[in-house]
Amino acid sequence: MTRRLFIAGNWKMHKGPNDALDLANALKRELVDQTAVDVAVAPPTISIPSVAERLKHTGIAIAGQNINEHTHGAFTGEVSSEMLRESGCEYVLVGHSERRSLFGETDETINAKVHAAFRAGLLPILCIGETLAQRESGEAESIVANQLERGLVGLSTDQVAATTIAYEPVWAIGTGLTATPDQAQSMHNHIRCSLGSSHPSFVAKQIRIQYGGSVKPHNAASLLSQPDIDGALVGGASLNADNFVAIITAGANLRS
Ligand code: PEP
Repeated sequence: MTRRLFIAGNWKMHKGPNDALDLANALKRELVDQTAVDVAVAPPTISIPSVAERLKHTGIAIAGQNINEHTHGAFTGEVSSEMLRESGCEYVLVGHSERRSLFGETDETINAKVHAAFRAGLLPILCIGETLAQRESGEAESIVANQLERGLVGLSTDQVAATTIAYEPVWAIGTGLTATPDQAQSMHNHIRCSLGSSHPSFVAKQIRIQYGGSVKPHNAASLLSQPDIDGALVGGASLNADNFVAIITAGANLRS
């Protein structure tokens, strides 16, 4: 089965409404003929409505960076999945390592957010990955399998298959250190096998697993050409239109 590559840009806390529109305009211009890979951008929440409006009908989807697991209520400063859906999002990142390490998100809250995403009609991008200390102590595979299993608890088989997994080794995020293509492929294969052992076989065949962690134009093709790598979650390089477009083009060239 050939899975369509899925490349998403996580703008993190960069690009307020004005700068976000500039970047959206550049992507709209540069990617007008691009249909070979699926593309999404995750602007900060404040910039989502204007970027979603600008990128309507371009094939570039919008993702939120985080949601609260509740529908509404007294949760000052939070945003629900329903609100993101209403603002034009199709996807939402859940469990990014910065949310886990800086905001104390646990596998349980992350699982609740995955359910909240589906409830509102958003597709979750579930981020998992080990720290450097966990890799060095030989725990990487068990940590990742555990995060995967706990993040997906209680979902239907179809919901699991519709989830995107982003494998992001924490030591590679924003550090310039990238997992080698072999290291990344090996973990992606482990993730797919874990899914295969707990779900019907179509799930492991269909589910898309992105790699994230210092993906740049120069390393994109070697990562994206691995058999179990189905795309990329791109942080820093997605803030610059030329770099993000170059990564998308590397993916598109592999599929043409
Ligand atoms: C990320 O934020 O998910 C990420 C992978 O960042 P970077 O590409 O900058 O390492």
